[in-house]
Amino acid sequence: MLNSLRSIVQEVNAAADLHDALNIIVRRVKETMKTQVCSVYLRDGKDCFTLMASDGLNPSAIGLVGMAYGEGLVGRVASREEALNLDDAELHPDYQYFSETGEERYAAFLGVPIIHHRHVLGVLVVQQADRRRFDEGDEAFLITMSAQLSGVIAHAKATGGITIADNKATEARFTGAPGAQGVAIGTVVVSAESVDLYAVPYQICTDAEAEIEFFHQSLTSVRNDIKALGETLKSRLNREERALFDAYLSMLNDASLGSEVVARIRKGSIAAYAWSEVIGEHVNNFSAMTDDYLRERAADVRDLGRRVLSYLQESTQKTRIYPDNTILVGEELTATMLGEVPKDKLVGLVSVRGSSNSHVAILARAMDIPTVMGVVDLPYIRLDGRTMIVDGYHGSVVSDPGSEVTKQYQVIVKEEKELIKGFEALKDLPCETRDNYRVSLWVNTGLMADVVRSLERGAEGVGLYRTEVPFMLRDRFPSESEQQAIYREQLEAFAPNTVTMRTLDIGGDKALPYFPIEEDNPFLGWRGVRITLDHPEIFLAQVRAMMKASEGLDNLRIMLPMIASVPELEQSKALIVRAYNELVEEGYKIVLPPIGVMVEVPAAVYQARELAARADFMSVGSNDLTQYLLAVDRNNARVADLYQPCHPAVLRALQQIVHDAHAEGVSVSICGELAGDPAAALLLVAMGYDVLSMSATNLPKVKSVIRGIELVQAEKLLAEVMVLPDADEINRCIDRYLKEAGITRLLRPSTAQ
Ligand code: PEP
Ligand code: MG
Repeated sequence: MLNSLRSIVQEVNAAADLHDALNIIVRRVKETMKTQVCSVYLRDGKDCFTLMASDGLNPSAIGLVGMAYGEGLVGRVASREEALNLDDAELHPDYQYFSETGEERYAAFLGVPIIHHRHVLGVLVVQQADRRRFDEGDEAFLITMSAQLSGVIAHAKATGGITIADNKATEARFTGAPGAQGVAIGTVVVSAESVDLYAVPYQICTDAEAEIEFFHQSLTSVRNDIKALGETLKSRLNREERALFDAYLSMLNDASLGSEVVARIRKGSIAAYAWSEVIGEHVNNFSAMTDDYLRERAADVRDLGRRVLSYLQESTQKTRIYPDNTILVGEELTATMLGEVPKDKLVGLVSVRGSSNSHVAILARAMDIPTVMGVVDLPYIRLDGRTMIVDGYHGSVVSDPGSEVTKQYQVIVKEEKELIKGFEALKDLPCETRDNYRVSLWVNTGLMADVVRSLERGAEGVGLYRTEVPFMLRDRFPSESEQQAIYREQLEAFAPNTVTMRTLDIGGDKALPYFPIEEDNPFLGWRGVRITLDHPEIFLAQVRAMMKASEGLDNLRIMLPMIASVPELEQSKALIVRAYNELVEEGYKIVLPPIGVMVEVPAAVYQARELAARADFMSVGSNDLTQYLLAVDRNNARVADLYQPCHPAVLRALQQIVHDAHAEGVSVSICGELAGDPAAALLLVAMGYDVLSMSATNLPKVKSVIRGIELVQAEKLLAEVMVLPDADEINRCIDRYLKEAGITRLLRPSTAQ
């Protein structure tokens, strides 16, 4: 059974579109269950369940027969969200007869709902003539099948709007999560991980003959590589192993493989895309085989496929031209990918994976680039060169937008510009409430570009300088003197204001290409201070560079990420003091910088008092703290709606930290993304946070909201919110308050839908 399940899912996954997918499902399920009918009914926008595919019922009924939610046997399965297993369907009170289907011949009926993310998408039905119930094994198989296929069907349904064969542009909207606010309208450039057979962007080929010639050259290059490889390894391989190289060569010489690719190039696709399609189909065919030996051959075809693809893509990558208003789209965008696009061309980012708390989204916010994350249903490889709207307010994108939608968004872009102009007047005004309560607004930085914008927007200090960013943009660890120069730039730019430098915070989703960490559970693994305490040479070089850079400026604070215990703080402090003493001995005229703790692990919340007693300041990393308190991966789009920064447990923890830190006379800041949310900022001010640190983009909005209220009002709102039982109620309460205070319009443009 497991093998059948796996092979059906694999085949469905490789289907060209929804229609194809449904036909594969009904044919394969019917065959595997040895039944006489298998059908799929899908729900439409009007809650009607229409027969979309069937193997066994009259084909003329497909697309015509439908039942409303709760009506007929199919409607009943959908409304009850459970399987219905009958030995004689006609005897059931809900039975409805549709003469077009010819189903009167079939007595036994087994229907199971197809449910995706709590939503009933449709119903999967098998039928047979015998008057006998399907057995428990059949029922279990169909339920498992439906659960496995629901994601594929949802995806196929969502992506169905995009067609490539005829290259017709059809407007389609896809949703994800807001990554960075703002709206962008531009042209898609798909950033594909090279040599990924399953992520080759579709591009139109304008000169088929040249492309075919290029394809043949690439095949020849791989043939030569394989021959050379075979020669080099000759003495180390036995005869059987050497035979693999011959098998590769014969696959490459296989005329049918080549001619399939050539035919697709002639139809208008570039060679890389055509090759990836053909190889993908061959891999699927091998994977679906029951013979173990033949199934293993799938890996060889894949390997060969990648070798050829690397030649085919090499030139595409080299000649990549970024149009004006580039919208970079990819399976999983990374910081390095952003770096590939010239700054003046990049206007928007869309990532199929990740969520608003992924680091690439944080970078995008720092760079002020409208971004949408976790658009899981986006058929991104087909979108290269298409027009797209990125709505970073609502976390949605529109591909091939029509003139109506484009006009709407053009209005938003104009509104945004006006909003920003209005903020310019705020730059030199203090951040204080109407009743003169002063709040410090600092910024989070990582790139030099942040510095310029932060100063333009009136930042009073840096609450978080993410030192891992310059580490991520290199291909080796920067030396102590390289680091010193980078840190000096930051410290000088803000002097005499404070710059809080966080020691290297890698691990989790922040990987350094030259220091790979392979873990099953990276967010609970080797991260932040855990790595640097295990590698004192890296830590010492970094804090030495920071302190040397601060000479004569004395505006440095050092902050430790991921502290989960008092010994971790003590050990880090000891290393910093050691580095300081050495530098003084070496003749540097420096002061020992204040040393602070990031509170981002639940353990640190419960030990806030002990940690505060041993630290000079505290700063809450609410991004990680939320992820760990709620046990929700900050990068996982599937659980993104469970990542609730205003969850009562999070708010209570935030309140507790301020209380405990202040009891020890230590100041507290917050540098997670929550501080940059104008609505949440009101709560944080009322809780007593001394500093709110955020991306420069959000600073004017937060300032404007704080200047518009009185502290007592914020305290009243906080008191109301703190007794509410869930995040939705809390958000509604905040929204109501903002609306009454007339400040909703500052948060997002009114016309965005
Ligand atoms: C946080 O976790 O809130 C934080 C500021 O750190 P980062 O987002 O870089 O992990
Ligand atoms: Mg963190």
